[in-house]
Amino acid sequence: MNMISIILAFLLVSCGTKTINTLTSKPVALPQYKVVEHVVYPGKVKKLRISQPEVGSDHELICGDKKLSSLKNNDQIEAFFSVNYKYLEKNKNKIIPCYVNSLIGGQRLNFHVFNLHVKPFNYPKSFIKVAKKHVDLSPEDLQRFLGEKEIINKVYEVSMHTPKLFKKDFIKPLKSKITGVYGSRRVFNNKKDSWHSGTDFRARTPIPIPSSNDGVVAFAGDLFFNGNAVFVDHGMGIITMYCHLSKINVKIGDRVDQGTIIGLSGNTGRSSAPHLHWGVRVQNHWIDGLQFLQEQKEEGLVAYHHKATDKK
Ligand SMILES: [Zn+2]
Repeated sequence: MNMISIILAFLLVSCGTKTINTLTSKPVALPQYKVVEHVVYPGKVKKLRISQPEVGSDHELICGDKKLSSLKNNDQIEAFFSVNYKYLEKNKNKIIPCYVNSLIGGQRLNFHVFNLHVKPFNYPKSFIKVAKKHVDLSPEDLQRFLGEKEIINKVYEVSMHTPKLFKKDFIKPLKSKITGVYGSRRVFNNKKDSWHSGTDFRARTPIPIPSSNDGVVAFAGDLFFNGNAVFVDHGMGIITMYCHLSKINVKIGDRVDQGTIIGLSGNTGRSSAPHLHWGVRVQNHWIDGLQFLQEQKEEGLVAYHHKATDKK
């Protein structure tokens, strides 16, 4: 650490809301945000927007200890934040703070903008019968499953760095009856306790399945549980997944548009009847796709500056 950065670090600590512009050596007034309090639910998505960060550059949005995959324009940061379905079972702290992280005068500074309060959501519980081999995995099947998991985990990792590839709102892949809702706690053969990480659409006979939005095919192939499956990476930390297909029309690396037919519905993998399982993954969590379709149209949770004239 040279002398200038020691002085700068001292000034940052002592001034709190002032820093030094290294080009002009003049103090720069830092923006002050009002911390917006908001309720969020496990398995649901919240759209976050921060307008006009004003100072600094290379803005990032950090919630908890996670850097969000976000869309950055000159005067706005936009991101879809998601809460893990099992968040409340795994975390004692029910408040997730969010920060705008900005590069100012060579320093990375955090501005506290949101407190997201995680509250429980009551998902239904159901009992399902499936083939025994899909509950009690043989050593070979377990080996296969673990191998697939490794491949898919890479897909997830890459998706966090994919820039936004879509222009329009996401759409439902089918308009048919929903036969399985997101989030239902599922007990397989009265044994394995699981939960439903997507939305099931009725598709009794093989029907064409369109991509929910523009993106790039991140995986296309046969998986132990999902059967023939296609994963589309849309950027901004969003993936859609189409499972149990009877036929796959695309291959890894293909660019698809909203509406491109990625395959035909079917009954492959761990499936008790022909249907389409549609999964939506946001910031590395499988979330409620139907809720996401609504949330994407919302203005989002907006951070705003604290003005000197504001009453406390
Ligand atoms: Zn399903």
